[in-house]
Amino acid sequence: MTSRIPFNRPFVAGKELFYIAQAITLNNLGGDGHFTSQCSRLLEQRYGIPRVLMVPSCTAALEMAAMLFELEPGDEVLLPSFTFVSTAGCLVRHGVRPVFVDIRPDTLNLDEDLIEEAITSRSRAIFPVHYAGLGCNMPRIMEIAERHGLRVAEDAAQAVNSYQDGRALGSIGHLGCYSFHETKNIICGEGGALCVNDPSLIERAEIIRDKGTNRKQFFRGQVDKYTWVDHGSSYVPSELTMAFLYAQLEMADAINARRRQIYDFYRKALEPLAEEGLVRLPAPCGPEASNFHLFYLLLESQATRTALMEHLNKEGIQAVFHYVPLHSAPMGRLHGTTVRDLPVTDDISGRLLRLPLFYDITEADQERVVEQIGVFFRGVHRRF
Ligand SMILES: *Cc1c(COP(=O)(O)O)cnc(C)c1O
Repeated sequence: MTSRIPFNRPFVAGKELFYIAQAITLNNLGGDGHFTSQCSRLLEQRYGIPRVLMVPSCTAALEMAAMLFELEPGDEVLLPSFTFVSTAGCLVRHGVRPVFVDIRPDTLNLDEDLIEEAITSRSRAIFPVHYAGLGCNMPRIMEIAERHGLRVAEDAAQAVNSYQDGRALGSIGHLGCYSFHETKNIICGEGGALCVNDPSLIERAEIIRDKGTNRKQFFRGQVDKYTWVDHGSSYVPSELTMAFLYAQLEMADAINARRRQIYDFYRKALEPLAEEGLVRLPAPCGPEASNFHLFYLLLESQATRTALMEHLNKEGIQAVFHYVPLHSAPMGRLHGTTVRDLPVTDDISGRLLRLPLFYDITEADQERVVEQIGVFFRGVHRRF
């Protein structure tokens, strides 16, 4: 009986348990202690970001972005439909209308050529998503945003430690949102960060994050008592999770390198099937341009995807797909809009399959995944 290969397995990279023990001995398990500030500082220095605020999730960071941009009922925000629910959920809770724009067939990122036709007098912001850790065309998006007076919040949930032209993804828009959920590259169970790239937003971001209070200013001695001054919520993570995260952040480059190895293995082993036109592989990219967050196959049809997924699952290999496009989900249909059909989104989301990819997957397990894909297409047991 061969063992099951999960789609994802959370991993311990190095000093996580040591740092958690240290956090406990420091007698401060609430927020904004030693490890929270270590994590912020590391991200600020590494990526040249004026202020990084650690938060409980990327969803929380996106919610803070909607509040910081002061989005109001009737406002419109442009974003892809091919994304996780949080990119749009943070808008709809303020009565903001998500305007879904189609993606490029090569990168599956927001198609920058389709953004301008979707801009109206009610447009306020663009929320680009860096799918699979590969950047959207940020120079074009920032140029369009500037010309139309729009704000930009990058959903860089999947793109921690990815670069574009030497700049870290998440550090380019007015705001950037990171995720450290256990399915991402760098993890702490549940966690995130808000990159405040526009310094004029820092003070209010700190207040919103701390229940609408000016506690940060109080601790810095800028005000003589701390009190309720604005909207806000509980967006401060626990020291325990930040201790875990700090150990992973220290190893960010090693994690990228390992994922690149896994990614390259799949790509090389599956190339023959791609050359025969049986599958399509992700567009190639340089080692800096991606953090190799995920590896996907595009199958010929939805029926082929379903059949391959069933075959792999029968063989104990967990392969999964995403997303149900948001414009076709019940909430997306109710609250969102589009200026034209989204043929690429509709097509790709039906044919995409993700393969197991996590830090300590073994080469033997990867070989088994590749072999079983071969068995599916060729009906015989042989390596290719
Ligand atoms: C994972 C993910 C999120 C949500 O991240 P959480 O930290 O789980 O809130 C948001 N957007 C995208 C594109 C994601 O992949």
